[in-house]
Amino acid sequence: MTARPSTAAVRRARMVDRLRSQGIADTRVLEAMAAVPREAFVPEALRGRAYEDERLPIGEGQTMSLPWTVARMCELIGAARGSKVLEIGSGSGYHAAVLAAMGLIVFSVERHAALAREAAARLRDLGYLSATVKHFDGSYGWAAQAPYAGILVTAAAPEIPSALVGQLAPGGRLVLPLARDAEGKEQRLVVVTLDAGQLVEQDHGEASFVPLIGRFGYPRRSGL
Ligand code: SAH
Repeated sequence: MTARPSTAAVRRARMVDRLRSQGIADTRVLEAMAAVPREAFVPEALRGRAYEDERLPIGEGQTMSLPWTVARMCELIGAARGSKVLEIGSGSGYHAAVLAAMGLIVFSVERHAALAREAAARLRDLGYLSATVKHFDGSYGWAAQAPYAGILVTAAAPEIPSALVGQLAPGGRLVLPLARDAEGKEQRLVVVTLDAGQLVEQDHGEASFVPLIGRFGYPRRSGL
């Protein structure tokens, strides 16, 4: 008799089927998302909803991105196995785990100390040893580890943070939600590349993220 797959495994397989039907085609991304236990990154009380199509609160007023958003950003980053990527906004650590499961070397930065600590502990306990989380303002990037084949920003920026562009390897891609209005409500997912020293922006549709707060993001407001 074969063991019954756990509820989490069944839900995870369903999530991956849904991602496929929503247009995610990159098998490396789908396989990574089929492998990472998303429920381990979600607050205990919300574990039953870990595989739903919704943004879940993770503490400190922050949210975990939709599975589709994580998958799409991973597709867009397009970095080769074994290359270095930078994530700004570790949050729960889930996205970093998916990138690590794709065979990437992940550097991830989080501005909330408690979230950074918890994300680092989860990644270590689950064995994602190629992901490193640090606590600081990631709008500056992480120059000491640069250059990166890809940089992902999981919070919406008012403009392209120039510090990040400078940390891309030749041919590297910066994937980020950019706000198109002063309030940061209208956001677009954008891929930025450098072509002969010129910034090239490619639009990938609507986005909905918490704000990037820091030197090259929005100023800190009360409660954020
Ligand atoms: N990738 C995360 C989603 C995080 S939500 C996940 O998989 O769970 C965005 C995160 O960006 C929040 O945790 C927020 O605190 C963080 N953030 C916002 N501005 C930041 C900055 N300047 N540097 C680092 N992290 C930042």
